[in-house]
Amino acid sequence: MADEFELIQHYFSEVGSDRSGSVRLSVGDDCAVIAPPAGYELVVSIDTMVEGTHFPPGTPGDKVASRLLGAALSDLAAMAAVPACFTLALTLPETDNSWLKAFSTRLSELAIQYGVRLVGGDTTRGPLTLSVQVHGWTKPGKALLRRGAQPGDRIFVTGTLGDSRGGLETVLKHIVGEQVPYLQKRFYNPEPRLDTALLVADFATSAIDISDGLLADLNHILQASHVGAMLNPGEMPISQSLYRWVGEKKAREWALSGGEDFELCFTVPLLSEPKLAWVLREHDVAVTCIGQITDTPGIVLAEEGEIWPVEPHGYNHFSDKGFKQ
Ligand code: ADP
Ligand code: MG
Repeated sequence: MADEFELIQHYFSEVGSDRSGSVRLSVGDDCAVIAPPAGYELVVSIDTMVEGTHFPPGTPGDKVASRLLGAALSDLAAMAAVPACFTLALTLPETDNSWLKAFSTRLSELAIQYGVRLVGGDTTRGPLTLSVQVHGWTKPGKALLRRGAQPGDRIFVTGTLGDSRGGLETVLKHIVGEQVPYLQKRFYNPEPRLDTALLVADFATSAIDISDGLLADLNHILQASHVGAMLNPGEMPISQSLYRWVGEKKAREWALSGGEDFELCFTVPLLSEPKLAWVLREHDVAVTCIGQITDTPGIVLAEEGEIWPVEPHGYNHFSDKGFKQ
């Protein structure tokens, strides 16, 4: 590729689809021009991934693309926003055409699947770093926030928890085996729960996506809402693959504290539970009740008549070791 402009034109000028029909001007000018649907609010979030911190050095382009876009769209899901478009800031150490082709092909596949269009970005030289800024819409005042959970609300999570942590472990330790493909898929290919969020948005009282670990992220809801939580660790949704690979104890530990599942955690008033069951009746994503909101600050685990408090620790990129050790 001769220069940066050719690179952008070749790999990034036609990525994704504009399902919301709001993109007036896309890649190629100084700015993109977007026309939000009349009366809607713009919901914006940015996510950055650094090689060696968020994914292992040498990760193929397609895996980086799915992790990057999946994680970014998950933030829109947490707010119950409809995704519209995104921008991409790309810092590359060199022009590796086969890596870029794998990256942009997968990025486009997923962007079409989720109905978002890549409308612009920035391309620079340096250590491999990727930022995606996503833009979505909500009706005025309808974004689902972290504050709003009330004592007595039931706490729900989508999908299964801990798989991504398991997948990371198999990557770091070069593990092979029957359960590995599924777990690595869960690590590299997070599925933003956009549809689930829209189904529950009308009556959920709070929501967050699980990026740092269930305890750590639930704690954000608790602090924003000035409440506490009681969880039943026996109710954690755990996949067969994770259970078979590491057994119950480790699987539970990772379900509670392993990060980057990009599942949703949300709260629903007890009285709205029948409504929840109704809206989810034909939904293909599992939704599990794992506990309830209390008025005592902090998180306690309760199982078989015993209750014990837990520290809501999660993954912190600045204090924990990344891939470069
Ligand atoms: P400027 O100098 O005005 O900032 P650039 O030369 O950086 O513009 O980019 C030219 C065009 O290409 C702009 O429309 C920009 O949004 C787009 N662009 C640059 N990098 C990317 C990328 N990685 N993905 C998508 N669009 C990009
Ligand atoms: Mg310019």
